[in-house]
Amino acid sequence: MIKVKAFGGYSKIGKSMTAIDIDGEIIITDMGADIEKLVNFEEDKNDITVNDLTALIDNNVIPDDRDFFMKEGKKVKAIVLTHGHLDHVWAVPFLSQKYKCPVIATPFSIKVIENLMKNFRAKSLRLIPLNTGTPYNISDNIKLELVNVTHSIPNSSMIALHTKYGAIIYANDWKFDNTPTLGRKPDYEKLEQLRKEGIFLLISDSTNAEVDGYTFSESIVKTMLEDIVKKTLDNKTIFISTFSSHIARIKNIVEISRKLNRNTMIFGRSMDMYIKAAINTNVINKGALPEVAFRREQINGLLKHVYDRPGKYVVICTGHQGERGAFLDKLITGQYQYRLSGEDAVIFSSRTIPTPINEANKGMLKSALESLNVNVADNVHVSGHASKNDHKLLIKMLMPKHLIPSHGGIEKLSANIELAREFGYELNKNSHILLDGQEITLE
Ligand SMILES: [Zn+2]
Repeated sequence: MIKVKAFGGYSKIGKSMTAIDIDGEIIITDMGADIEKLVNFEEDKNDITVNDLTALIDNNVIPDDRDFFMKEGKKVKAIVLTHGHLDHVWAVPFLSQKYKCPVIATPFSIKVIENLMKNFRAKSLRLIPLNTGTPYNISDNIKLELVNVTHSIPNSSMIALHTKYGAIIYANDWKFDNTPTLGRKPDYEKLEQLRKEGIFLLISDSTNAEVDGYTFSESIVKTMLEDIVKKTLDNKTIFISTFSSHIARIKNIVEISRKLNRNTMIFGRSMDMYIKAAINTNVINKGALPEVAFRREQINGLLKHVYDRPGKYVVICTGHQGERGAFLDKLITGQYQYRLSGEDAVIFSSRTIPTPINEANKGMLKSALESLNVNVADNVHVSGHASKNDHKLLIKMLMPKHLIPSHGGIEKLSANIELAREFGYELNKNSHILLDGQEITLE
């Protein structure tokens, strides 16, 4: 008998965590934070440690697994993570310890977790880096395989659990990028092979299930960025802000800048963390990117070079959501010895994540930039999540016995259910809506 319990990521995006019970052996997939709640929590307390566990649960920053642990904690055989985004892994240092089971993920994701553990002063865990395509026996009855897929962070995977009922596939988050600029395209052969074995259940990302068409490839953004950098006047310094974990994007910006005879600098503490993780796991070569600066004196020293040679640099930096304390926020509020002016251009290679805080912060940042006559380009970005037609492809490719949409609120989950109707899926028969805290038994 298979039971699925939704802890987070089903009533809204964030705090992803699911428990899948296979004949009394439980696998937990993902253990993330609600990023919006985390930002609020950090406003009051910036030095978070493992001692804040209860406060984090009570403030809904991380999933509440307390009752579950009391009743079923001993049955948990493994915690498996899809990718290194914080809404999928941030809670690992806080919640995973007590389960006394291995935590398994691709090597880059494991590095991200190790960094989090160090930051929060967590005790060591049994972390197991597992490459995609390499089988791992969780028990006599459950075999795990991570399937290579594309997203917006390196080393993303779908989780495939081989069971006597067929395969269970947990696919959060994914897109089908057939021309990725870093890493391999999705492992369609493996998905085909899984389909032949028979798929009992697919739990799938619904972030963009309401968005028409296909999600474009990262190579499109590379072309867009190159075009914008080319069109920017030769005497302007360019600041490009993007997601620190988006190593492919960062690498592309460095390559474009080199091609157009500009030097690059990278600023921001989170950039340093993700880039080091990428180097340490051979996602990129050591010399591929410049060293990251994040200390004030170091940044001021480098900015002097930028100021003295207008038009010669592209600065890659944090702060695209307008978040406080990130590089762009500090730059605009005069915390560095560099004054932005009409001689500068700022490119946001991101979209504003639609939370009230982000929208307010980003709005303020953009109007401050505009009042200084800085050239601004926004939304130079493509999503890391599948759109409607991609979802149809995946469903058609796998034809699971049961489908449970995840990673969304009720509207997004319903949109995913609706798409599946074309392939004969009926709500409450073989497609199911689960909300956070709910559980379902499948046969
Ligand atoms: Zn993600």
